[in-house]
Amino acid sequence: MSPIRVAIVGIGKIARDQHLPALAANPDFDLVGGVTRHEPPDGLDGFRTLADLAAARPDVDAISLCTPPQGRYALAREAIERGYHVMLEKPPGATVAEVEALIALARDKGVALFATWHSREAPAVETARTWLSGRGIHSVGIVWKEDVRRWHPGQAWIWEPGGLGIFDPGINALSIATRILPQAMVLHEAELFYPANRQAPIAARLSFTHDRAPVEVELDWRQIGPQTWDIIVETDSGQLTLSSGGAAMAVDGQVVFEAPEAEYPNLYARFAELVRARAVDADLAPFRHVADAFLLGRRLEVEPFED
Ligand code: NAP
Repeated sequence: MSPIRVAIVGIGKIARDQHLPALAANPDFDLVGGVTRHEPPDGLDGFRTLADLAAARPDVDAISLCTPPQGRYALAREAIERGYHVMLEKPPGATVAEVEALIALARDKGVALFATWHSREAPAVETARTWLSGRGIHSVGIVWKEDVRRWHPGQAWIWEPGGLGIFDPGINALSIATRILPQAMVLHEAELFYPANRQAPIAARLSFTHDRAPVEVELDWRQIGPQTWDIIVETDSGQLTLSSGGAAMAVDGQVVFEAPEAEYPNLYARFAELVRARAVDADLAPFRHVADAFLLGRRLEVEPFED
């Protein structure tokens, strides 16, 4: 089978850290270049726009969108209309309706659309899902606390409307929870903590129910020192801890599963399958929960945030 000719759109932190190395290591893909407003990295052909890419390289099959969520819809729409298969970084857009429209358009055009959730590819997630299936869930605690200055230095878009603020990492936790828990969660209370000078929250507290079990979520970008990405599930037959963002799983305090991280290699393996099948994989559950948090959330003001 000939490789899928792919271009990356938006060469920022995640494109450099993860997408470029994952594509270089995957023989299913031939990386033809990057669509970027700046100088491309050494060895990569650069194109200013999708139209420039299409004119210079009419053989391109697919694009991978690594731009911020605001503005992603217009790019994805143009790409699908040009007949490209499209992979979307998370979150898949700036609004739920945008992504629903993209799903309909991709189906109409017969191209692949992949709304990725990289944290679902963390090594212990599927093991946790299997372990939880069939067990009675008593309660769930999710704690996602990290230092925004360490992970998102100078990213102005993340504080703007549509940038999600703390839900940029928080949606990773929700993507895992919606994968491993046997039933759907329903939000019933939310508090969103906005720095006085910003348009997006720096922290959030969410209360869901899963059947009748409480699911309490604490998200915070003001964590200094060790970072915390943990999900703890109390069940009728033991306690499951998924720690380090899904990298390790423990039962009743004993580590039972750990494996090397391969999130982005896994995402591109899946994208190759979807391209070959011209299929859509776009689960909006994590994104809907974030939208619900903005719908229901009580706004609380906290001290201004400076980068
Ligand atoms: P970033 O470092 O700010 O890079 C985004 C890139 O998108 C920019 O370098 C720029 O590329 C392009 N871009 C186009 N329009 C832009 C605009 N109006 N403002 C800023 N950049 C614009 O962001 P990132 O961390 O890579 O995040 C991109 C997406 O990946 C987000 O949806 C994020 O949630 C997701 N993600 C990030 C991480 C992470 O660790 N950072 C992890 C997983 C997922 P050009 O200069 O090439 O035009």
